[in-house]
Amino acid sequence: MDKQKEQFIKDGFGHILWLDIVNSEHYDGFGNLTDHLADDAWLQTLLAHYQFTGAPLEALRRELTAVRPHFRRIAQTLNQNRPLTDEEIALLNEYLAEPGIRALHRTAVEEYVVEYRPVQSGWRWVLAETAASLAHMLNPKQQKRIKICPNPGCNWVFFDQTKGNSRRWCNDLTCGNRDKVRRFRARQKASAV
Ligand SMILES: [Zn+2]
Repeated sequence: MDKQKEQFIKDGFGHILWLDIVNSEHYDGFGNLTDHLADDAWLQTLLAHYQFTGAPLEALRRELTAVRPHFRRIAQTLNQNRPLTDEEIALLNEYLAEPGIRALHRTAVEEYVVEYRPVQSGWRWVLAETAASLAHMLNPKQQKRIKICPNPGCNWVFFDQTKGNSRRWCNDLTCGNRDKVRRFRARQKASAV
């Protein structure tokens, strides 16, 4: 695996496309922002990972940057267990309307898969697939697993895959641990008074 891809996976990207786009506005836990959409290498890694071809980077960056706050708001809506607004559904439908074709394809190991391919590849297809990855999660079972890390310096959005849907932090070792330390210090301070 090349270094870029390794870092991409290590950062927690590469599982759910729309969450990758939301989290491309990446806070380090202390409120410092890295905007991965501004980084050509990151965008190319994303495109390669999800097997997109033919999307010009500039146009893609512009469109993803524009749609990102809407996707984050939808994540908040889901996180708060509220239904999507008509405007949010209309926005998703705008992207979902991009036409595709189904085609049967034989893989190298003699398996058959039905692929859904764009009529025209380009940034619109990336947006359509991003919207589709979100739309497929709009069911009660999956919706309640969409969570936002409660560390205000982080805000990472993730899909909780634990059996009991009990995950609270993006990462117990970073944000979870910082919270533990913070509460410990607060207790110490309180008992010192
Ligand atoms: Zn976090």
